[in-house]
Amino acid sequence: MIGSGVLEAAAALPAVPAYLYDLPALDAHLTAVRRALGATELYYAVKANPDAEVLRVLAGHVDGFEVSSAGEHAHVTGLFPDVGVALGGPGKTDAELRLPHHRIHVESPNELRRLVATGLAADVLLRLNPDLPVEGAALTMSGPFGMDEDGVAECLPLFGDRVRLRGLHTHLASGLDAGPLLDLARRLPIDAYEEVNLGGGMAVSYESPGSRFDWAAYGAGLAGLGRGRRLRIEPGRALTVYCGYYVTRVVDVKRVRGQAYAILLGGTHHLRTPATKGHDQPLTVLPTGAADGAGLGGEPVTFVGQLCTPKDVLARNVVTSVRVGDTVVFEMAGAYAWNISHHDFLMHPKPAFAYLRA
Ligand SMILES: *Cc1c(COP(=O)(O)O)cnc(C)c1O
Repeated sequence: MIGSGVLEAAAALPAVPAYLYDLPALDAHLTAVRRALGATELYYAVKANPDAEVLRVLAGHVDGFEVSSAGEHAHVTGLFPDVGVALGGPGKTDAELRLPHHRIHVESPNELRRLVATGLAADVLLRLNPDLPVEGAALTMSGPFGMDEDGVAECLPLFGDRVRLRGLHTHLASGLDAGPLLDLARRLPIDAYEEVNLGGGMAVSYESPGSRFDWAAYGAGLAGLGRGRRLRIEPGRALTVYCGYYVTRVVDVKRVRGQAYAILLGGTHHLRTPATKGHDQPLTVLPTGAADGAGLGGEPVTFVGQLCTPKDVLARNVVTSVRVGDTVVFEMAGAYAWNISHHDFLMHPKPAFAYLRA
């Protein structure tokens, strides 16, 4: 259920397609997450959504930002010169290894050797890719990310006065609930480290937007794990996904071989998330079209965009009434949405950006 304030603002937008961000809702969500986490430090994974207005709200709640490129580093430090930055990501260049940071997440023994060779001081967390079965996740981070136990052992003798070992970093999977995430954390070799970053990957449900990750249970579980250790997490999606909406309008409706379609301005080149994850983006139709305009009703309608590809599908077989000129509001578009989309494909106009403020 999208709140009435958001729906009113969506219907009143001067131009669509548009992204609409509900900043007060983001602020309230972050306040609740922070309270649930207690002493556990909270970083935000900037790759989920680097929108400057969104980051400004986050900056009031987080201990720092996790960045994974020189571009994200420049963006974040340009906005917040004094913020704590954790520098991660596979394949760091020599220039990236020289960037100032609060922590750097080292991905391989060779990367650590190159870091030492810069001659600069650095505070390192070693990214471990542990041999743990991860079940029920949307995506598991096996493969090239981080190091196995042998890689970690190879790193240990390389530390010295300037490049210091601070602790362990892991980011195991995407889309896990609090229980499974805590089970995984308990099986990590954290006893050997005084600082541990457990990564992100907290589940969100595009099927039921109202259900939320259980931050209270997660925070309580982490408090039991921490015990004198400095614990940190770096979620992306579960922090910002709910504050963003993609708002657009119906340009055509039709039936092709019995299937009803609503054709929208824009499409997956603005909101790639459903195409990437293979889900139906949850939506609400606002009846802003003319009452006597062409319409469909009482049958499953598939919502597609303007791209000349059958992959440009935002939601399949939604049972709803819809007319030409109606406004369609897609929710859960605040993470891995605009910034992962292929904007220039077909050269349609870019969306506008609008913000609800307190
Ligand atoms: C992407 C990423 C995150 C954030 O993951 P979410 O699923 O958005 O919470 C955190 N840490 C690392 C290393 C990542 O690559």
